[in-house]
Amino acid sequence: MTQNPSRAQWMRTQNFIAGRWCDADRQDVFAVLNPADDSLIAQVPDSGPADAAAAVDAAHAAFAAWRATPAKQRAQVLKRWFAAITAQQEELGRLISLEQGKPLAEGRAEVAYAASYVEWFAEEAVRAHGDVIPAPVTGRRMWTVKEPVGVVAVITPWNFPAAMIARKIAPALAAGCTVVGKPAEDTPLTALALVALAEAAGLPPGVLNIVCASREHTPAVIGAWLADARVRKISFTGSTPVGKLLARESAATLKKLSLELGGNAPFIVFDDADIHAAVEGLIVAKFRNGGQTCVCPNRVYVQAGVHDRFVELLAARVGALKVGPAQREDSQIGPMINARAVEKIERHVDDAVRHGARVVVGGRRVRDGVVHGPNYYAPTVLTGATPAMALAQEETFGPVVPVFRFHSEAEVIAQANDTPFGLAGYFYTRDIARAWRVADALETGIVGINEGALAAEAAPFGGVKESGYGREGSRHGLDDYMHLKYVCEGNL
Ligand code: NAD
Repeated sequence: MTQNPSRAQWMRTQNFIAGRWCDADRQDVFAVLNPADDSLIAQVPDSGPADAAAAVDAAHAAFAAWRATPAKQRAQVLKRWFAAITAQQEELGRLISLEQGKPLAEGRAEVAYAASYVEWFAEEAVRAHGDVIPAPVTGRRMWTVKEPVGVVAVITPWNFPAAMIARKIAPALAAGCTVVGKPAEDTPLTALALVALAEAAGLPPGVLNIVCASREHTPAVIGAWLADARVRKISFTGSTPVGKLLARESAATLKKLSLELGGNAPFIVFDDADIHAAVEGLIVAKFRNGGQTCVCPNRVYVQAGVHDRFVELLAARVGALKVGPAQREDSQIGPMINARAVEKIERHVDDAVRHGARVVVGGRRVRDGVVHGPNYYAPTVLTGATPAMALAQEETFGPVVPVFRFHSEAEVIAQANDTPFGLAGYFYTRDIARAWRVADALETGIVGINEGALAAEAAPFGGVKESGYGREGSRHGLDDYMHLKYVCEGNL
């Protein structure tokens, strides 16, 4: 394939194993649907254990040579991959919007965001070095080297079909690991496109392998990787229950794990905040991807002194958000990923209302002349939220803002931390002492102070508590794919 492949060359609907595009061993397929109207976009292989094993065979066989390839050469392949992704930004952005449902502008932005990780790790690849250690006794030399862990299994969710793939595969390849991957069943086409572009960038056969599987057959594919001692690491982004299952099932072969799991982010607005900035920050943080983002604020705490004014400003902004198909340039909130997602949102809102919440705006599905599919939910603001409501306990993963009223800093910190999750937390204040105090007190892996958009390739992304462990992006993101070997040389 040429370095600047056409759409026909990267729009793939097969598995990629050992450098070949192929169907599933059983020849089964499953459907990829457009969430805007549930129409069929494509069919992709519904793989099973035989395909999973073939992928590991290929990755295992390719490991020795890829590991021995100088980091600078690995970096050059990644740079070409970055250039190929960037060159296709518009088309890839459209593909993301088509299969995942985020508005076009966000689809394009996700391509740039995904590419930024590829570029970052191309640059980091050449800096993965160990140390020479001053020996505590005479006559010894002691040093460390960083080595790739081996074959890595990458399992990704549907909400950022390009970014999640890039954020895992780029550091794995930069480190010298080889990869077997399984994209989310709702959004495999973006992953396959990225793999085709990596092939075009000159990645040797077997270094990157990808298999698709339906929801029904995913456990068999992942089960084969979990049981295979040649797979040395699992990098997973998805829900906390599946993350726990992977931790349990990988214990037999003690694989290294990176788990980026669910969140339940608090967003706190203190009386001393710039409330206009806080409203804008919340709109950015909450309504990106229709609220289907793991770092989305899920609980919004507003101090009593600014509560009513904040809700008034917020409701005006939220009520004006345009709901529509992702392909329309003016849509700001696209369809939710599927019927199950809309049902969960509906269940959370109904439960909140039953427990005394008031719907200020939204609070219903959308069916009108603009949208025709079943998967749209209106951007919603609720007040009177309480900790007992389902939406306070677990992520709603939709365009719903529940507002909790609070009085004191101590009270809101206790409430914000009263969750098993700890991915992101946000707060708005103009008091510098409070900024330090609250940033210290929040039990999350990521904190935003007066800022709603936090993710960047240069920064470590990841959680604490049941939001998982491991970090993606930054220099720490490469370490997750390497182990440290200590070498000690004595006197001859
Ligand atoms: P999910 O856990 O259902 O699926 C994630 C991946 O796991 C998919 O590829 C899926 O096919 C696979 N999977 C599902 N069941 C499996 C099983 N039994 N065994 C092995 N693999 C299995 O999650 P989702 O619905 O796709 O994604 C949404 C979740 O992901 C949310 O909880 C969200 O917060 C989380 N998420 C976290 C981050 C983060 O960085 N922390 C980022 C994005 C999404």
